[in-house]
Amino acid sequence: DIKDKIYEIREDFPILKRKMCDHPLVYLDNSATTLKPKSMIDTVVNYYTYLGANAHRGDYEMSAQVDFAYENARKLTKEFIHARRDEEIVFTSGTTESLNILAMTITNTWLHENDVVLSTVAEHASSVLPWLEAGKSKNIKVEYIPLDEQGRVTVDNFKKALHDKVKVVALAQVSNVLGYEAPIKDIVRIAHEHGVKVVVDGAQSIAHLPVDVQDLDVDFFCFSAHKMCGPTGIGVLYGKFDLLEELTPVFFGGESNARFNKCGKVSLKKTPLKYESGTQPIEGALGMAAAMKYINELGKENIHRYELALKHHFLEKIKDVEKVKVYNAEAESGIITFNVYDQGKLIFPQDVASFLNTRGIAVRSGEHCAKLLGEVLKVPGTCRASVYFYNTFEDIDKLVEALKDASFETCLDIFF
Ligand code: PMP
Repeated sequence: DIKDKIYEIREDFPILKRKMCDHPLVYLDNSATTLKPKSMIDTVVNYYTYLGANAHRGDYEMSAQVDFAYENARKLTKEFIHARRDEEIVFTSGTTESLNILAMTITNTWLHENDVVLSTVAEHASSVLPWLEAGKSKNIKVEYIPLDEQGRVTVDNFKKALHDKVKVVALAQVSNVLGYEAPIKDIVRIAHEHGVKVVVDGAQSIAHLPVDVQDLDVDFFCFSAHKMCGPTGIGVLYGKFDLLEELTPVFFGGESNARFNKCGKVSLKKTPLKYESGTQPIEGALGMAAAMKYINELGKENIHRYELALKHHFLEKIKDVEKVKVYNAEAESGIITFNVYDQGKLIFPQDVASFLNTRGIAVRSGEHCAKLLGEVLKVPGTCRASVYFYNTFEDIDKLVEALKDASFETCLDIFF
């Protein structure tokens, strides 16, 4: 049980010793990025201290050691999401790059004029903008699966939105604003019955839920290491092997080609190397693998159970605090989306976040990169507290106490 070893766990995270605004740090912005365990940091430092060479290029021992570590990171990643083969794991700079690569290559290779990509208004900009942008050249349309009144994607609404022109569904497994989990497995089954490919944005699910890409049967799954205790600048594009082989990369350069001639006739290497042009973030891949090992040791089921316990603790403590409105009490994740009202009037979420900062509490405020969702929530923005396994029940208590003190007076006072 994570609760029983929480103080040991916190020792693994050096940054938890720092202060913010003279208060012990209460980090509740884990959906933006997570903190890093020492074992991950050491792995990155070790690469620069002892390994140093490029990957897949040298004929000397040090370089072979890098190749081994880098490909071992790929193997670990395969196991982490239960892919069929190592070759299905492409390293990228993160979710955003993975999703852009997919939008560009799928639009170029598979889509035709007036084809439709189905999305939702709850998507992060990185999951919808690449399709809107890539589709311009071919007049591809993006349509939106209507959300239910809570803001969830439902199988029924997905079925209603599906039609002959839909060729791709692109959506998040867990929403970064409301924290709801989409019924991915059912959506994939129905999509496949209609010959539709499914691209899943796993940025918010990878650190918190067990992910089995074979069980979900998703065609593509993207995530970033930094949201799961790994380094920034590295992430994953998972694709079914045959699909990755069929598609063409959008970046070209060193290491991804076997040969080319002066006229531009290129023969590409096989997947995944054909997608990994140029020197990769090698220390990132090794660091991501170290983060995966750390998370595996805790167990994602345990992590998820603990996050929900923290969230329920918050809901329990806040239920009599009328001025705090929670939008997603039923979400099956550690994301808590709320606003604070003073005498019935909304306190601008950024002012609440700035006030919390003065107590050492980090939360996110605004539209959370999901600019279309405002239509559903009917507020200009929200505050978002997002927990992870190193947060404590005391962190939640501090948040609740601070929210009780939030008012127009306290929240605006800090600017003067
Ligand atoms: N999708 C979702 C749902 C996210 O929450 C995020 C990060 N906030 C992204 C995509 C983009 O991830 P990154 O910035 O690591 O590329």
